[in-house]
Amino acid sequence: MSHTRNTGPMLTSPRCGAQTRNGETCRAPALRGKARCRMHGGAWGSGAPFGNGNAVKHGFFTREAVDERKFVRTVLTEAEKLLRKLS
Ligand SMILES: [Zn+2]
Repeated sequence: MSHTRNTGPMLTSPRCGAQTRNGETCRAPALRGKARCRMHGGAWGSGAPFGNGNAVKHGFFTREAVDERKFVRTVLTEAEKLLRKLS
């Protein structure tokens, strides 16, 4: 049999490159859109959660909270203006 295997595209795919336990670099193909293979952190669901909130301690300075305080402040100042006008 003289069948030449066409493995070119397979071999040119990006590799994982993580350091393995024997000190060598992992040669498994990296997952699509990821830098690592399925065994080295590339698996679906691994890594930081979506909408990572690790930096949020209390949410006092989130855009929503700031906008809400701004809105409350404008409503209060408008009400105060109206009350001063009426009295
Ligand atoms: Zn790997």
